[in-house]
Amino acid sequence: MSILVVGSIALDTVETPFGQAEEALGGAAVYFSYAASFFNHVRLVGVIGEDFPEEHLKLLEGRDIDLAGLERGRGATFRWKGRYDFDLNEAHTLDTQLNVFETFAPKIPEAFKDSEFVFLANIQPGLQLDVARQVSAPRIIACDTMNFWIEGAYDQLRETLKAVDILVINDAEARELAREPSLVKAARQILDWGPETLVVKRGEYGVLMFNERSVFSAPAYPLEDVYDPTGAGDTFAGGFMGYLSTQEDINETAIRQAIIFGSTLASFNVEDFSLNRMKNIEMQDILDRFAEFKLLSHFEEVET
Ligand code: AMP
Repeated sequence: MSILVVGSIALDTVETPFGQAEEALGGAAVYFSYAASFFNHVRLVGVIGEDFPEEHLKLLEGRDIDLAGLERGRGATFRWKGRYDFDLNEAHTLDTQLNVFETFAPKIPEAFKDSEFVFLANIQPGLQLDVARQVSAPRIIACDTMNFWIEGAYDQLRETLKAVDILVINDAEARELAREPSLVKAARQILDWGPETLVVKRGEYGVLMFNERSVFSAPAYPLEDVYDPTGAGDTFAGGFMGYLSTQEDINETAIRQAIIFGSTLASFNVEDFSLNRMKNIEMQDILDRFAEFKLLSHFEEVET
């Protein structure tokens, strides 16, 4: 069962109170693919420019990430520059150079159209819907977005949501999308618009999942050192979808486990810049931390 992801491929320049990275490998589709590749074969659709370093492609290929949907545009690769202050939950964008990403119109290769698990990373909602329609028989379509699209393409985004099974966004985006300050009410509203499941990322406070039947709360792993939160959300989504794609039955249990796998991958990713930490872990490290997550939030019932 293959996973298809469509989204940005970037060279990121990032500054945090603990250091900096210059033109490092990044982009939503890259973080997602790398995290998901611990669980399954990944098909990536995105665009790079003429200046994209060959070593990054080798890294992705080495992870069984299929690059047949990678477009090489004429011009420079998408670049994002950001800074985090001591509140690492908030990214301050210093510069965005869309370059070849500006005219990106994802074309799904014929061989990718049978993908069963699809992740629409943060791109223009109309393009997300277009991708969703190009896939022949998806089991799960998950999607991310950002304030820029909520503010600038609201109606289109609402249309896209009708085709989405799982929406994965952060708490500020959920409130803004639903135009509702209460997260619980916002979730109910968003579930009414299409998605069966809403996953709300809350940075160092963990994740809340809402569906018609239940609410699930997962903590974030309490890390002593967070060096760079860039890509945490997309890495979460990669671990989440990666695990789901290994499951026959996408039921409540599988979704809860997937949330912990997503949180586990994200917790590794923030321990270093770019994908540096993920490059140095193996499945056993993921399983060990997954077990720690269970201990972290386990408690016994009381006798009454
Ligand atoms: P996250 O920290 O999970 O929200 O994702 C950060 C990644 O998103 C970075 O690697 C950036 O290159 C990428 N990114 C930043 N701005 C945009 C944008 N406007 N569209 C698509 N990707 C972006």
